[in-house]
Amino acid sequence: MNDPAPGRAAIDEVVHGSLEAVYRKCRDDTSGAVADYIPELARVDADRFGIAVATAEGRLWRFGDADDEFTMQSVSKCLVFCMALELLGRRQVFEFVGVEPSGDAFNAIVFDPHTGRPFNPMVNAGAITIAGLLYGALGDGAMPALLERLSRAAGRDLKVSEAVYVSERETGHRNRAIAHLLLNVGALSAPVEAVLDLYFRQCSILASAVDLARMGATLANIGKNPVTGDPVFDVAAVRDTLAVMFTCGMYDYSGHWAIDVGMPAKSGVGGGILGVVNRQLGIGTFSPRLDAKGNSVRGVEVCRRLADDLGLHAFECTNYGSSFVRGML
Ligand code: GLU
Repeated sequence: MNDPAPGRAAIDEVVHGSLEAVYRKCRDDTSGAVADYIPELARVDADRFGIAVATAEGRLWRFGDADDEFTMQSVSKCLVFCMALELLGRRQVFEFVGVEPSGDAFNAIVFDPHTGRPFNPMVNAGAITIAGLLYGALGDGAMPALLERLSRAAGRDLKVSEAVYVSERETGHRNRAIAHLLLNVGALSAPVEAVLDLYFRQCSILASAVDLARMGATLANIGKNPVTGDPVFDVAAVRDTLAVMFTCGMYDYSGHWAIDVGMPAKSGVGGGILGVVNRQLGIGTFSPRLDAKGNSVRGVEVCRRLADDLGLHAFECTNYGSSFVRGML
């Protein structure tokens, strides 16, 4: 039998080289602005920049501030949605929230005119609805269950930033308004403050770029954490989650993202992006300066360049770049 070691070493070199080049190219871009509508978020060091790539076999590459923690914010939405699908089943979840891209900002106060429900679980209205479903099913046990599940996806114990949580709770008037409208249209039935508390806490979970890459690798590995072997998410729920991430995960840039990068992903206003190459790898990026749509400027550029260099676009159909790497990762 051939010794696989030389092939693997060559692939490692290509990926490492590509990551390093991408890191260097994007590092000097200081455009964009840190989210400041949650006061505590405005206090982060805007220059921090980390990237990590984890394979569905358990390998990991990291650059820069890849171990620095930041709050997941909306990145949490995809994983919490996955958990809700599994706990409550598709039918119940889709009765309360749709799966259509909204084309509106993440915090828009707008519902699907045909159904009266939030457009999808990746915008605030949809994510608050999902939090309501989880709270309805698990009550005060919802947050510990959610934190445990995300920790298992990352492969280590995650914690909540109390400072960011308090800051969100005290200033989240828009989310409070959305929650009351959801109550009004019957998309939410649990006590509003308890549901918002759950939502604010899930947004305030601390994770690093390495954690996001590991979580992405868990999704890529059809729900099983490749490092711990833990079956974290149900396969059917992962399939639906990746589909919604693909169409709705990058705010109102999602359509262009599908063209430019072509992978399921979710970003958050804390500066994180979690990307997934199905069956292959997870990508985690962290850089707090955001563009006008709320996506990390450097993070988007990192994913775009990596997709080009390594041939990671879901519909890549040429041998352009290093797409041969894709089948071998
Ligand atoms: N906690 C933030 C909010 O509700 C999350 C927004 C985001 O990351 O898109 O406004």
